[in-house]
Amino acid sequence: MSATKPGATILASAISKTYVPEITAKVEQLRAVRPAGPLLVGFLANEDPAAEMYASWTKKTCEAMGFRYELRKVDDRDLLEEAIIEANMDEGVDGILVYFPVFGNAQDQYLQQVVAREKDVEGLNHVYYQNLYHNVRYLDDRQELKSILPCTPLAVVKIMEYLKVYNQLLPEGNRLYGKKCVIVNRSEIVGRPLAALLANDGATVYSVDVENIQEFTRGEGLKFSKHHVRDIGAYSEELLAQYCKDADVIITGVPSASYKFPTDCIKDGAVCINFSSHSNFDDSVKTRASLYVPSTGKVTISMLLRNMLRLIDNREKLKTLR
Ligand code: NAD
Repeated sequence: MSATKPGATILASAISKTYVPEITAKVEQLRAVRPAGPLLVGFLANEDPAAEMYASWTKKTCEAMGFRYELRKVDDRDLLEEAIIEANMDEGVDGILVYFPVFGNAQDQYLQQVVAREKDVEGLNHVYYQNLYHNVRYLDDRQELKSILPCTPLAVVKIMEYLKVYNQLLPEGNRLYGKKCVIVNRSEIVGRPLAALLANDGATVYSVDVENIQEFTRGEGLKFSKHHVRDIGAYSEELLAQYCKDADVIITGVPSASYKFPTDCIKDGAVCINFSSHSNFDDSVKTRASLYVPSTGKVTISMLLRNMLRLIDNREKLKTLR
């Protein structure tokens, strides 16, 4: 223990290990309908070394837990859509994952929606996002088919549960009551859905992007059943410092190697989590944070496999409900 660094660094690998028993038990249980193990197909249509690394990690994790993983490289990105459609229709494929960026523009958002909802392990289908924003947990009125959540926002929630930011003594759905969280990123893929998830669970969330700062809450005394959004003001370092000074949790996702969250703005004992592929905190974060999680990728893969098992459950249930 050090007086200058009183907190602890918690690695995503340690958190993801806690999901191994649950995931492997479920894969075993599915042997009756998936004797060779569920099949996840990853599509790679770019030359991004980070995507290649993520793909090899996913393969290793899948195989260690009884899944099958197949990487399909598509040399001509204009052929990717057809390849996805083919996998959508293939009964032997249980999950589909596309490594983005492919085109690096709005066409990628279209491709995300081409993946069949029933095989979308990353939870990027607009129905899943809509359910998240509206705090809806099921896909059907009978509440038989559970909705899934996008992997990266879900991974951050699970990390916060592991770190005991979620108060287990409160009823589910209110367990972040009283917590103030700052999220530096408001992308449609991670930052905005994450702000909504945390606010839906009772937190006051300050969502920061290059333009402005917004507040996501369920209102005074959690009077609303889902989050509401209020504009606070244009982005400035001063405004950020004002809202960070008493934040319990600071989450960063800035896609830049040079960006560093100002350590001065971190309250002593705050929890700091970085989901960017770059380190958004410099080493001095350890002089302030109680718990620091430098990356989230390994937990995201665990969430992806959990989502896949839930999608298989849904597909099997649908066969009996018909
Ligand atoms: P993005 O470019 O879509 O969004 C970046 C967000 O950060 C925007 O809201 C932007 O306004 C904000 N931002 C940028 N610079 C800022 C600054 N100086 N101050 C405040 N806000 C700032 O990126 P993304 O897809 O959300 O990915 C962000 C990072 O997270 C990347 O490093 C990526 O690799 C990683 N990541 C992405 C995913 C994913 O599924 N897209 C998953 C896990 C991790």
